[in-house]
This record gives sequence, C-alpha cells and structure tokens, in this order.
Amino acid sequence: MSKLYIVGTPIGNLEDITLRGLRILKEVDFILCEDTRQTKILLDRYEIKTPTLSYFQHSSFSKVNQIIDLLKQGRNLALVSDAGTPGISDPGNKLIKMVLKEIPDMKIEPIPGACAAIAALSISGLPTDKFVFYGFLPHKKGKETILKEIINNKFTSVFYESTHRILKTLNKLEDLGLGDKQVVVCRELTKKFETIYRGNIEQVLSVLEKDVTKGEFVVVVG
Ligand code: SAM
Repeated sequence: MSKLYIVGTPIGNLEDITLRGLRILKEVDFILCEDTRQTKILLDRYEIKTPTLSYFQHSSFSKVNQIIDLLKQGRNLALVSDAGTPGISDPGNKLIKMVLKEIPDMKIEPIPGACAAIAALSISGLPTDKFVFYGFLPHKKGKETILKEIINNKFTSVFYESTHRILKTLNKLEDLGLGDKQVVVCRELTKKFETIYRGNIEQVLSVLEKDVTKGEFVVVVG
C-alpha cells in the first residue's frame, strides 16, 4: 500500500532537516512541492534526484486527481511546502483533506521538522503550556476583532505576518490597547539576518520602526 509522507523542511537554514526526512525524500517516487524551484535548492544541496510535481493552493482539480491516481497506483509520495511543516498555514492541509476524502484509509505519515511558530515560541520565554496559534491574520475584514481577541487572550498568542504589514499590525495592536503585555517579534529565524525584538509593544515598535522590516516574521504576544 502506498504512503503519503508529510515532510518538514527548513525554514531558512538548510541544515534544519532530519536524517529521516532526507532519506524519505530520496526514497519516494515523487515529491509534491508548493514551488518546485524553492524545493530544488534543498534537493540540490543534498543531491536528491527524486522527480518533483508542483502542488499549490490553487492547483487544478486535474492536478489533485493526478496525485490521487498516483497514490491509488501504489506510488509513495512526499509532500513538502516552501518552508517548515506542510499543512501549517500553507496549502498542505487542503491536499490532505482531499486525499482522505478519496482514499479514507490512506496511510499518511508525519516526518516532523521545523515550524516557524514553534521555533518562535521556543525562544520567546513566554508561557507555552497553553497557546493560541492564529496563522496569518485576515487582511481587512475581521482583523480588528482578532487583534482584540489577542489583546484579551489569557494564553500566549502566536501569528505569522508579512514584511508589508508587520509595522501596521503592531501599531494597530498598540492603538487597540495591548499595553504592557510582552511581545516577541522574530524576524528571519535561522537565517543570516535573524533578529529577535523583545519588550512591550512600545519598546518593540521604537526599535523596529528604525530597523529593516524586510523578511519573514512570527509575532508572539504574552
Ligand atoms: N508551514 C510553515 C511553518 O511550518 O512554519 C509556515 C508557512 S507560511 C506560508 C509562511 C510564514 O511563516 C511566513 O510569512 C512567516 O510569517 C513565517 N515564517 C516562515 N519562515 C520563517 C522564518 N524563517 N522566520 C520568521 N518567520 C517565518
């Protein structure tokens, strides 16, 4: 019986992949990638020659059917995303849902690896026994409601934010009354320009506003 492996890949530093992850990527028949060019960087680094197929958020119905057919034919597949753990705020979980609908007894195995949210929580110094993960916040409609929920949350909150919106979102948190809660903003984790900003929102913003805000961000709120 075929298997679908969900393989965690690095969130920046190419060394952050497990030995098992590398072995599975070598052994499967095809690797399903969010962006084949992005995954090629990892595969080249480890001299993995397995053929790739693209799968992304808006993949056509026929692409999904092709993947399901491969599994029905007994092929082993590995799903990777551009970064981190597939299915966490990326198209992976949509595919898993569709595969399970078509093949309910499909063997789906996790090959754990990096995840930006978990990496950020791990260095936050904030309580992690209970936390709420918000993924990407909505851009417009509903954003204020979620930000208010984060402000009033009695557990640690963690969310993903883009270069373009990081300052706007943090300013909005301040305006809505985040007050003295501790904030940890993690930029470019595991990469060359990794930077961690800690403090209350006023302190974090005063530094971040003068700094480069290029890159990828995870925000953790105490
Ligand atoms: N599946 C991924 C995971 O396991 O973390 C997340 C995918 S989501 C499409 C991409 C977002 O994760 C980025 O916009 C950013 O907010 C966050 N992210 C990914 N890599 C990061 C990094 N190296 N440093 C900070 N944030 C990162």
